[in-house]
Parts: sequence; C-alpha cells; structure tokens
Amino acid sequence: MSSAGGLHRAVERAIAIDCRTLQVFTKNSNQWVGKKVTDEEAKAFSKSVHAAKLAPLASHAAYLINLASVTEAIRKRSVEALVDEIERCDQHGIPYLVLHPGSHGGEGEETGIDRIARGLDEAAALTPRSKTTVLLESAAGQGACLGHSLGQLAEMRRRADSKKRIAFCLDTCHLHAAGYDLVSKGGWRSFIAEVEEEIGVQRVKVIHANDSKKERGCRVDRHERIGMGTIGEAGFANLMTEPLFAAVPKILETPKDESGDFDRHGLAALRRLAGFSEKS
Ligand code: MN
Ligand code: MN
Ligand code: ZN
Repeated sequence: MSSAGGLHRAVERAIAIDCRTLQVFTKNSNQWVGKKVTDEEAKAFSKSVHAAKLAPLASHAAYLINLASVTEAIRKRSVEALVDEIERCDQHGIPYLVLHPGSHGGEGEETGIDRIARGLDEAAALTPRSKTTVLLESAAGQGACLGHSLGQLAEMRRRADSKKRIAFCLDTCHLHAAGYDLVSKGGWRSFIAEVEEEIGVQRVKVIHANDSKKERGCRVDRHERIGMGTIGEAGFANLMTEPLFAAVPKILETPKDESGDFDRHGLAALRRLAGFSEKS
C-alpha cells in the first residue's frame, strides 16, 4: 500500500479496502537512506496497525539495494541501506522485510550467491538485537537477477551464518515468469514438493499474489490484476486452497486505481477462490 502522505495513510488505505495484512515501503523506494523517523511517528503507526488488527506486516526494501553488486562501493552502500531498512522495521514493529536478492552483473551465479550471503551476514552483524527477518523474494529471472529458482534462494540462506534472520517471500508473478507451472494441478503439486524440499514451507513468511501479463517462462516481470493474466483463476485457486499456505499472508502488488476498487476486486477474487464468502 502506498504511504504517500505518511505511513499512517497506508494503514487508513488498508482499512478502507478491508485488508487483514499490509505491506509498505518505510521510505521512498528509490532512495538509499530515508529521513529519520521519530519514535512518536513509529509508535503512532504501530498503534493504528494494532487497532486495525493488521498482522503480520511486511516492509519492502528499496529497489536500489544489490548485495550481489560487482562494484564494491555499491555493495557496501547496499549493506548500509539494508541496515537502515532493518532498523526502520524494528522501529515500526514490522517483523518482515522483503528484499530482492540482487543481480550478479555478469560475474555468474556462484559469485553472486556468495556476495548475497555475505551481505546478509554483514547487515545482521550490524543489527544484533533486531527482531526483523529478511525475506528473500523469488525473482522473475530478468537479466542477471538471482533468486529465480527455489534452489538458488535456498543456497543464499545456506551460505549465510545469520540463518535465523533469513526466510523467504514467494511472488506468484515472478515464479510464473521464471517458469514454474502454478496453473495446472500437477504443476502446482510439483511446485509445492520443491518448496518443501528446497526451502521448507515454514520459511515461506509472505506470498505476493500477483497475476502476470506475460507468458510462463518469459522471465519478464509484469504484474496483472488477479484473474486477468496468464496465471488466471485456476492458478490462484491452487494458491488459495493450498493448506500448507493457509496461514501465510498474501499481499497484492497488482495495478491500482484511485478509488481502491481494483484492490477490492483482487481481494474479493482471492477470498472467493479460497471458498470464503466476501464478508467472512
Ligand atoms: Mn519485490
Ligand atoms: Mn513481489
Ligand atoms: Zn514483480
């Protein structure tokens, strides 16, 4: 949800469309480090979140962060920015920080995964008392971006020492773009089997429920409204009736309109596919 006008506005927007959970940026998503937040502001935010019974919350880290960068100055800056994001989460009482793992910039998967694990450890060492879990988000596989297979995501965590601070976020649009079949029954079963084998269902803390404008395997990241893309209702029925994901928060990152109706329709579609009546 947009936090234009202040983070408390994101909570108001979430209440207006009847959300149960909320993902925000705690600062401008295109900036390295945000303006400091006062404790009063942060407390007012967590109070309104609590009153609205929104839980668990997620924050999305800035897009500039690339722990796998081949340029040491950018890699270092990324670690600093990640520390800033982690501290903001702690300040706001947000348990999960969604992070794009990074791009290896041509130096290859092995080097990239090593750098990501090292960057996660450096950020964890600089925030020893933090309660924030960093969620590595599955990637669509554009360019040299890492994390387009569950095996790659698992390997990033495996190579890190700060394992307790690392879990995962699965994005349906990205998985589909990376080639996973979420639509057929058989495809869904083998996807779930791979989740269990590679990362563990208990480590999937957030799911981004996004339909895709593009075909499966295209490696292009273009989100579409629920049911209107190439994943379609069949894919989201698989997701919403999956017992292993029943307790995992599902977040829309789909195209929005001014009135909030696009989001209302998306939530209603997911709830209908889950077998809930709209007001349950
Ligand atoms: Mn993302
Ligand atoms: Mn996402
Ligand atoms: Zn995306």
